[in-house]
Amino acid sequence: AAKIAYDQDVSRSKHHFVPGEHPVVRIEHLNKTFTDTPVLRDVNLNVWNGEIVVVLGPSGSGKSTMLRCINLLETPTAGHILIDDEEITGASKTNVNELRKNLGMVFQGFNLFPHMTALENVMVGQVKVLKKSKEEARVEAMKQLEAVGMADRADFKPPQLSGGQQQRVAIARAVAMHPKVLLFDEPTSALDPELVRDVLAVMRDLALNGDMTMIVVTHEMGFARDVADRVVFMEGGVVVEQGLPDEVFDHPQQERTKEFLGSIR
Ligand code: ADP
Ligand code: MG
Repeated sequence: AAKIAYDQDVSRSKHHFVPGEHPVVRIEHLNKTFTDTPVLRDVNLNVWNGEIVVVLGPSGSGKSTMLRCINLLETPTAGHILIDDEEITGASKTNVNELRKNLGMVFQGFNLFPHMTALENVMVGQVKVLKKSKEEARVEAMKQLEAVGMADRADFKPPQLSGGQQQRVAIARAVAMHPKVLLFDEPTSALDPELVRDVLAVMRDLALNGDMTMIVVTHEMGFARDVADRVVFMEGGVVVEQGLPDEVFDHPQQERTKEFLGSIR
């Protein structure tokens, strides 16, 4: 069976992704320091086309900062990030908008435009950034709202929707842009427990039935176990351990991983 960099047997993964020379996301020696505090310390991570990676770790371990570096919301202090072999670190301002087309992000807060309907929220990026016609954008938006079970709420504005419904619209909006990579930063953490399930179901469907590449920061261990091809555990700005979900959950190798998993069970 094919082996990837960290020696995982790919044939045991849930998806057919193609490891090799060209990961979709290549993070090399990524460092980020805020004033004098190192937050990311030599992070190295490759993610392959179609792979679902779940990132776990205690609060403050640098998970959001890593996603924000990938999405060009933070500038790394040192190191390189490549998306589809294209270096994004050190990109000029004009390039940043072009490069961001490759990346979709779903945040903890449901940052939809409050004055626009769900449909308009899913259309606006397609029209403004991808320069699609309104008609084309509308068709795609309805398709994606349908996929997340929100087609019947297309004309509702965010304040008329529950947090879980807003988050499903946010997912539809990200998917409608057809990015090369979808990044999720604790998408269910701000939701009431009864709404978490619907959002996870949408993400699960996207992961298992689509061909998306996803990096998901979450504390939802059930989701990680069922859906992830690989689990990455971070602490103190470093990747402490990674591997198949069952291996990391049932046989963690590092003391810090054991402690973390013990604390959340
Ligand atoms: P996580 O998402 O794993 O909880 P973060 O990436 O949000 O961790 O934060 C990692 C560390 O970096 C924390 O100690 C946080 O306080 C710090 N940090 C994050 N953003 C900033 C910032 N803009 N300025 C200063 N410190 C920051
Ligand atoms: Mg965070």
